[in-house]
Amino acid sequence: MAAHQTKHIFVTGGVVSSLGKGLTSAAIGLLLEKRGLRVRMQKLDPYINVDPGTMSPFQHGEVYVLDDGGETDLDLGHYERFTNSKLTKDSNFTTGRIYSTVIAKERKGEYLGETVQVVPHITNEIKANIRKLASPDVDVIITELGGTVGDIEGLPFLEAIRQIPLDVGRQNCLFIHLTLIPYLKAAGEAKTKPTQHSVGQLRQIGIQPDILIVRTERELGREATDKIALFCNVEKDAVIEEPDKEYSIYEVPLGLMDHKLDQLIVDKLGLRADPIDMSQWADLLHKVKNPSHEVTIAVVGKYIQHKDAYKSIYEALDHAGIAHSARVLVKRIEAEELERQDVDVVLGGVDGILVPGGFGMRGIEGKIDAIRFARENEIPFFGICLGMQCAVIEFARSVVGLAGANSTEFDTHTHHPVICMLQEQKKIEEKGATMRLGAQPCRLTGGSRAREVYNTDLISERHRHRYEFNPVYREEFVRKGFEVSGVNPDNGLAEIIEIPNHPWFVAVQFHPEFKSKPPAAHPLFSGFVQAACSRHRQRMELTV
Ligand code: GLN
Repeated sequence: MAAHQTKHIFVTGGVVSSLGKGLTSAAIGLLLEKRGLRVRMQKLDPYINVDPGTMSPFQHGEVYVLDDGGETDLDLGHYERFTNSKLTKDSNFTTGRIYSTVIAKERKGEYLGETVQVVPHITNEIKANIRKLASPDVDVIITELGGTVGDIEGLPFLEAIRQIPLDVGRQNCLFIHLTLIPYLKAAGEAKTKPTQHSVGQLRQIGIQPDILIVRTERELGREATDKIALFCNVEKDAVIEEPDKEYSIYEVPLGLMDHKLDQLIVDKLGLRADPIDMSQWADLLHKVKNPSHEVTIAVVGKYIQHKDAYKSIYEALDHAGIAHSARVLVKRIEAEELERQDVDVVLGGVDGILVPGGFGMRGIEGKIDAIRFARENEIPFFGICLGMQCAVIEFARSVVGLAGANSTEFDTHTHHPVICMLQEQKKIEEKGATMRLGAQPCRLTGGSRAREVYNTDLISERHRHRYEFNPVYREEFVRKGFEVSGVNPDNGLAEIIEIPNHPWFVAVQFHPEFKSKPPAAHPLFSGFVQAACSRHRQRMELTV
């Protein structure tokens, strides 16, 4: 029997950024898994930060955290939501990480006598990182290359993937290029020239794409795709249209399947695969298109204008909506502006309030106002990470009577440091990858809301923060009606807090949004949206 050969799919992007390359890569992974193939996914990012952990969400959108504590690109969130690919720190690497490894090796003397260069040392390091995922348990590795063809910083990555067919055989590699076909209203025509140029650039580097996925505003038709095929030197059937979707991102994999992309990949890579069954996703899409009711959730944050800053939270709310046949409308509220507004007017009509994670003090008082409003008016509330810390501060000030209580992140001299940094964090000086990161266990308290919705005693959730609920205050809070419903069994830290005599007031120190999937909504998001649905029904009954 022939030795097992892991196949490679490389996904590159051209013409413009933000084409949805991550989503398309995830959709390809999903289609291949639905054909019974074992898929691993990874993303290469050409920027120089060692990881995105030190970037502002305004620059980069959300930082997606993995079980092993990897702080990664948000596209990995798409991969995890769409596929079962096991993701680790090795699933996302940047120019910065490649260079720091190569430079460390040089200092150790691993290249003694050599001039260390982009080709072959940097490219070899990139190739090694890509091929590291290959194993007898993996049929296909999908490697997405961040950025757009033509970017200076992407060149070493393109050169590395150009070389891989020489190492593993061209028949074992597939290049998929994603581009844009803009529609020019004035000309009344879809324009193929930018795509021709982009493919031309790839071919100059020595990469001939096997499949083109062309993003369009409206359907192109056969004549246009045949023209693209001819000019780009791609087979006619290998030009796949991916028009903008009307309802949901779940249409992406179904649309690609309709264009037989999965079969094309299976044929081109000579894979043996099962027939496809996408009924579960068709069913999800049906639910998204036909909700029985609608709820409005206010998300009160500080990176509200950036559409991807709370990406996984918005996705997790959608998943919970699907679970309860509800369309979840998100009202994005800038916390800093809320400080100057009438909270009653802004939040009076919502069915639930969510305060997400964040860093720095801008908008903190607005978040605290929103939480007070939720607590006093029995509006379902869900706090995540910084959202939990703000809930602790609010309760300290309003209920426990600790005037000026704060987190030492915002007021180092507060008399009541209800949120503080633990000793081991205080010693750390470097900012990169030094937070409390990744999966940590949490034991749930019997009889609590958390225990009820998770329906198990011990859970594992992902963290990304430096500050904690100060254990010194715990007893006093509990006496005043706070419940610590989740505790880390290893260090005793409070991970979940609740107010039991409230319809839904639950806040968590971890990030549950990273573990929600479309067919399996996260229990806490599901519980929160269910409580919001009940409030919505009550409000409707009052108005009739
Ligand atoms: N800034 C807070 C901390 O570092 C919360 C972080 C977060 O919300 N991810 O602890």
